[in-house]
Amino acid sequence: MGNRLRIHEIYDSIQGESTLAGVPCTFIRLAGCPLRCTYCDTLQAIPVDSGNWMPIADLLAVVQKKQRPLVLVTGGEPLAQRHCGELLSGLLSLGCDVQLETSGAYLVTDVPNGVRKIIDLKAPGSGEVARNRLENLDLLSAGDELKIVLTDRSDYLWARAMIEEHQLGRGDIPVLLSVVWGKLKPDELCQWMLEDRLPARFQMQMHKVVWGSEAVGV
Ligand code: SF4
Repeated sequence: MGNRLRIHEIYDSIQGESTLAGVPCTFIRLAGCPLRCTYCDTLQAIPVDSGNWMPIADLLAVVQKKQRPLVLVTGGEPLAQRHCGELLSGLLSLGCDVQLETSGAYLVTDVPNGVRKIIDLKAPGSGEVARNRLENLDLLSAGDELKIVLTDRSDYLWARAMIEEHQLGRGDIPVLLSVVWGKLKPDELCQWMLEDRLPARFQMQMHKVVWGSEAVGV
């Protein structure tokens, strides 16, 4: 038998975030995450035993059947599972766009070329700022993006300082800022970004607008 991964769920929806927001997408949610972000909206996928073992070959067969233009590998924290890279390579060979969403707590060195990496930069309000592997900033290339989720004004000031210090958002790698649903008002964030002429993009979690903030598996 080939290598296996712990899978929490596989489902089809519209990609709700990133520069590919709005694209029909197959989501593969891997089980398990060592972080504990204060605002985590996928708590159900944090325990590693929240998922079932699935051979990578079977996963690829499921995705191939669905025939979506985009596949997102998310979690949990996908890179916490040893064979995630093998899954990503297999998905690329199916010919669809492949995105990987990761907390940024693991180095992305072994992520295959061609996978679009979405790295969360954890702001202080997440409670996990110390987990950021800033070496990852030098491992990004065109097609990748940075995401920062903000809980309040001080998170925003942190993000602004990071953008300035590391010259983020000025090349091929967009920076996308979003609010923690119900904690920071979207219009406030937009106003701050406009005032500061921040080289970043605002994003809403589109799926929460469409299906509601409590919906899971969409
Ligand atoms: S990294 Fe993601 S899955 Fe893990 S605790 Fe944070 S928000 Fe939740």
